[in-house]
Amino acid sequence: MSALLERLRHIVGPQHVLHEGDLIAYEQDWRRRARGKALAVVRPANTEEVAAVVRECAAAGTSIVPQGGNTGLSVGSTPDASGTQIVLSLTRMNAVRQIDRDNLSFTVEAGCILQNLQELADKEGLLFPLSLAAEGSCTIGGNLGTNAGGTQVVRYGNTRELCLGLEVVTAQGEIWHGLKGLRKDNTGYDLRNLMIGSEGTLGIITAATMKLFPKPAAQLTAFAALPDMASAVRLLGLAHEFLGAGLTGFEVMGRFALSLVIKHMPQLRVPFAGEAEAPPYYVLLENSDSESEEHARQRFEALLERAFGDGCVLDAVVAESLSQAHDLWHIRESIPLAQAEEGLNIKHDISIAASRIPAFVEHADALLAREIPGVRLVNFGHLGDGNLHYNVQAPEQGDPKVFLREQEDLVNHLVYEAVAAFGGSFSAEHGVGALKVDKLQKYQSPVALSMMHAIKQALDPQGILNPGCILASTPSA
Ligand code: FAD
Ligand code: ZN
Repeated sequence: MSALLERLRHIVGPQHVLHEGDLIAYEQDWRRRARGKALAVVRPANTEEVAAVVRECAAAGTSIVPQGGNTGLSVGSTPDASGTQIVLSLTRMNAVRQIDRDNLSFTVEAGCILQNLQELADKEGLLFPLSLAAEGSCTIGGNLGTNAGGTQVVRYGNTRELCLGLEVVTAQGEIWHGLKGLRKDNTGYDLRNLMIGSEGTLGIITAATMKLFPKPAAQLTAFAALPDMASAVRLLGLAHEFLGAGLTGFEVMGRFALSLVIKHMPQLRVPFAGEAEAPPYYVLLENSDSESEEHARQRFEALLERAFGDGCVLDAVVAESLSQAHDLWHIRESIPLAQAEEGLNIKHDISIAASRIPAFVEHADALLAREIPGVRLVNFGHLGDGNLHYNVQAPEQGDPKVFLREQEDLVNHLVYEAVAAFGGSFSAEHGVGALKVDKLQKYQSPVALSMMHAIKQALDPQGILNPGCILASTPSA
């Protein structure tokens, strides 16, 4: 093995093959659900170095775990415990290769931090709309690897919809130069879309050409209290009708999710917090307008007037300034952290057709309350995309560790069976990783699974790219 490390040192420079010392930042996942052991962490500086590293690893039969910001939530970016895998960290590859204003696109390397790309676009007077709470540390390579969603999908789509072209290093260490800025290109199988969302199992993304958009002239944010989930879906329909393409955000928050923010972040000012009987659901809406703030406000007011008339909104505030809008978004984005403060919990990232979400929530809430008395539901998410983070917190009394050990399988079983019964997905935006391999095996159709194994076998016959992520290593395993 040390012969391999010697060759890798030669390719990327000795200081970029981390072998000894504290590698926990690369070996442990963000949620601390898994801690592995890497043979080494290798940090190439460019595409040629990535290709050379892959060729050496392929020759040695050593598997590779691609890693960006290591913020993934499905345990896909950390090595297993064997001490035989290379973590290939792309974070040194953070150059912006080109900005093409006329084509509304830019070409960036995989290790660019998402927030830096948003800021770069902003400086150019343009918008790069991909937005998620991990944006300060996740990378565009990881966003593409997981096909990340986030808070602007309702208008701009997932990372997949934002990508025009890719540069990829294959499992054989060849470079696929697919960095096109084309919006139309029907030339055979869509390799770009095959790579996106493949979580590092089919190729290593080294650069991407991504879409840019004109910046909206004005953005307004509202925070509304609602009597039930059916009203939230009704409000979504009205928002589409009244705002059209201006609807750029539609997030739902359950009462308990919000109460955790109030409890653990007392410095945040949460609308309607002091009310004696808190309504069960809240919605954060964002309206981006291409004309003016005045126009945006008029359209928002017309929407809210209609929603009040219909009874689907009980109360609402519209942010008066950008900083107020930012504060409202901050409340929504604080939920995962508030939940972590409350203690260990079980996360679900599910999607269901919006029309069926009220019935699903009613069914699943009642089921969990009956089967696990005292269980607390932290329900929030991107309702505009039919995506809920339907999370489960241990009962107030009792040890969350014991709860997880004894009840996690049952909780997952109840939730995922209900999701399947409602025609939904057990992974909306976080991917499968190593965490949900058994769920894919269970809930994906045998025909789809066999096509997936065939693709993996064709592109990575040695099985060196992120083995055990998405698919079990062998079809029957
Ligand atoms: P990593 O975690 O390093 O890797 C993720 C996966 O992609 C792994 O399988 C890895 O092998 C693969 N990968 C990484 N780089 C490459 C590459 N260059 N080529 C090929 N494969 C690669 N996700 C959402 O979708 N929506 C959200 O709203 C959201 N909110 C989040 C909020 C918080 C607080 C946190 C911690 C996470 C959140 N996530 C969300 C999950 C996570 O941020 C995303 O999955 C993100 O896209 C991962 O990027 P990363 O650079 O950290 O990738
Ligand atoms: Zn999310």
